[in-house]
Amino acid sequence: MIAAVLQVKVTFVGHANGTWAVLAESGEEPRLPGPGVQAWNGFSRVAALLEDSVQTWTHEETCWTLVGLNIRAGVPAVLAVEGDWMASTAPLVQLGKDLRFAHRALSRSSQAYLGEATHRLTRTLGRVSGLGSVCSLVLRHVARAVPSRIAAFAVPTDADDLAIVATHGYPLELVERVRITPGRGVIGSVYSSRTPLWVPDVSQRPDLHARRPRYRTNSFVAVPVTAGADVLGVVCVTDRLDNLAFTKEDLLTLRTLAAPASLALDRERAKRRAEAFAQAAVIDPVSGLFNRRYFHERLEDELHRAQRHKTPVALMMIDIDDFKAVNDQFGHLAGDEVIRSVSDILRRSVRRFDLCARFGGEEFSIVMPGSGPEHAAVVAERIRQRIEEFRLEEPALVHLRVTVSIGLSVSYELSPRELIGRADRALYSAKRGGKNRVVA
Ligand code: GH3
Ligand code: MG
Ligand code: MG
Repeated sequence: MIAAVLQVKVTFVGHANGTWAVLAESGEEPRLPGPGVQAWNGFSRVAALLEDSVQTWTHEETCWTLVGLNIRAGVPAVLAVEGDWMASTAPLVQLGKDLRFAHRALSRSSQAYLGEATHRLTRTLGRVSGLGSVCSLVLRHVARAVPSRIAAFAVPTDADDLAIVATHGYPLELVERVRITPGRGVIGSVYSSRTPLWVPDVSQRPDLHARRPRYRTNSFVAVPVTAGADVLGVVCVTDRLDNLAFTKEDLLTLRTLAAPASLALDRERAKRRAEAFAQAAVIDPVSGLFNRRYFHERLEDELHRAQRHKTPVALMMIDIDDFKAVNDQFGHLAGDEVIRSVSDILRRSVRRFDLCARFGGEEFSIVMPGSGPEHAAVVAERIRQRIEEFRLEEPALVHLRVTVSIGLSVSYELSPRELIGRADRALYSAKRGGKNRVVA
């Protein structure tokens, strides 16, 4: 689930018979150590301190974020998420708790049902972006897992109140301008209290208002979507399709589906923060990558830091092959779409602390602090392959083929100028050698 939402590898690691071992993983790369090998010692030291917290651990140049999941009466377990997600510790810890909660509280058949519903939601969450789309998607899955006629998703606004951004069973236009005060009404009080509200029969609750005529039943459930102390949203379902009251299992289903929703909303929040950077003029708006000016600043910083620590810095210069022909044959808009897609591939192919920048028109650069020649060459080749294999989805553009040439250089004590010069020369030799290749 996390792998799909965050688009990184996620591994479930357990401790049994005195050793750590991988119990389940979302993909092959990057690899974790085999059973019983020395590399687990470092892991063990970090994992011992985990309890309910999050820590990072590095193995073969890959940084992992470890989330403690001490499932009671079971083996000690750790969720290892590829990359440094220390900025998202709150939803990760929450997720750990939800996983344990669901594990303990549900029968096996409900677990399987819930697992499937969560899996369906998660798989699609990785593919949508934008707050409204994420919330609509969550709501569609919620209304399917807990069959309901009416559902709504509210999120906090910048003005400290709540707005409904997705609806099920009635048009969003009816309510999109409504603002809900925290503490007021069902959604407002769930938001403020951060606790779910499950009401089997509203007529038995004098503290709540009588039901509105729009609803057919007396029962509803509202759950907060939380990330630590923050409430990122509130999901409310009303009117079970069979007109019966919502059950405790329904509540549990909603709470469980709130976990991937929380991760996706946190991801959207991180994106909005990145957009705020754009206003500070360090991000190129077309590609979403850092711009050239920021690239130069950071490269200089990284080279200084590397000199102090005696570590390498790798630099890749990447140029799209025959891009003029792409523009000529498919138009400039298609060209821009290619630039965006290539940028996405670059970003997804490197570690979180590597820096991807748009150097100019159809040229990109990647700074990889701490990467030696072997690692950088592997990453460069992976990027080359992924771009060669990718296809645009639009029917008119499926025949468009994109390749890149990559020049690579690694510095132990070069100046920024020298390092860029070498990567550039490598890039030109890749072009001269026939394009679609990596030259170091
Ligand atoms: P090579 O394989 O040698 O790199 O060939 P090329 O055609 O890619 O080389 P060249 O650098 O001569 O051409 C790059 C073209 O990219 C020129 C320009 O029209 C186009 N281009 C640059 N920036 C953008 C952009 O932001 N959007 C679009 N659509 N085209 C761009
Ligand atoms: Mg060029
Ligand atoms: Mg080019």
